[in-house]
Amino acid sequence: MRVVLKDCVWEPQGQDLYVLTDPREVVTLADPEGRVAALFAAMQGDPATVAELRERLAADGVELGEDEVREAVSALDALGLIEEDGDGSLGDPDLDARHFSNLAFFGTYARLGRPRAAFVNAVRRAHVLVLGVGGGGSSIVQCLAGLGIGRMTLVDRDDVESRNFARQFLYHHADIGRSKVTCAEEWVRAYDPRIAVRAVDRWISGPDDLTDLVEGVDVIVGGLDGHPEAHLWTNAAAVRAKIPLVVGGMTRSQIMYYSVDPGRSPCVQCDWRDRPAADEPTAGGFVERSRARISEQNLLIAPVAAQIGSLVAYEALRYLTGFEEPQAAGAFVKLDLRAGLTPVRQPFNADPDCPVCPR
Ligand SMILES: [Zn+2]
Repeated sequence: MRVVLKDCVWEPQGQDLYVLTDPREVVTLADPEGRVAALFAAMQGDPATVAELRERLAADGVELGEDEVREAVSALDALGLIEEDGDGSLGDPDLDARHFSNLAFFGTYARLGRPRAAFVNAVRRAHVLVLGVGGGGSSIVQCLAGLGIGRMTLVDRDDVESRNFARQFLYHHADIGRSKVTCAEEWVRAYDPRIAVRAVDRWISGPDDLTDLVEGVDVIVGGLDGHPEAHLWTNAAAVRAKIPLVVGGMTRSQIMYYSVDPGRSPCVQCDWRDRPAADEPTAGGFVERSRARISEQNLLIAPVAAQIGSLVAYEALRYLTGFEEPQAAGAFVKLDLRAGLTPVRQPFNADPDCPVCPR
């Protein structure tokens, strides 16, 4: 195995060596004898095995045993500073160009044995079921397309209307009156023909309508509307199939998203059965009595819809690659439009007797 340094700069400072990969954060390594700086210099340029690094160090007057060099390399790996030679490539120049920024992004998370190409390939193999290609869904599809998701199944029942144009960038003026999901499918094909996409023009009227759609799916994203319990159907279908679910939406003054990690996090049904009213203003029950009578006029504008789509797609990426833990598993993450979109995490109530969660 030949290792290389990731993009970084370093500078000796007294007894220490300062290393910079992210301007927010200086890594300080104790280096009283200058050996660490010598190792960095030895790693500069051509990729090297541990034995070759030892030779380069010896040529520089630094005598170290092979085990000592190996330990030092492991320490640099633990700090995320090195990777294996060739690990940043997908093995095809066209693919490397297409995924240039995706590969660069995962460079931060790559370690020896977990190359950045593995993260991108996990995305390229993934199948995501997108429920709804309207407000949030349009932006989710675009984010997933940019990531280069391998396969998308898109589900919707609506036609493109003039009022969609405040936020739904998958569609063109000439599409008005056409099936949304068909237009969305065309958009994905035109954007990146490598993405396998399937349009399902179907009205979902219960969890059973989702049974055939979740087969072989890695993550379910989006959300259904048109029925007050539609989110419970999606939840039930996802948990039964053991597929992570990520959903986003908004109220009048909040953006919200949540995810369900079946068997590991509480689900939406857990929370639904045991929701305390105390965390919101109730005004003697007035809020609870009146909630359903508030107009549900759609006030989702482009910047807000794009934000929801982005948050949902990013959470889906966490599930698909494991580059970090899901941030909204078993919790609502709410971003307050009145407070500069500051996020607040509000965990679901767990219900040991939940009829949906696995026992
Ligand atoms: Zn549950």
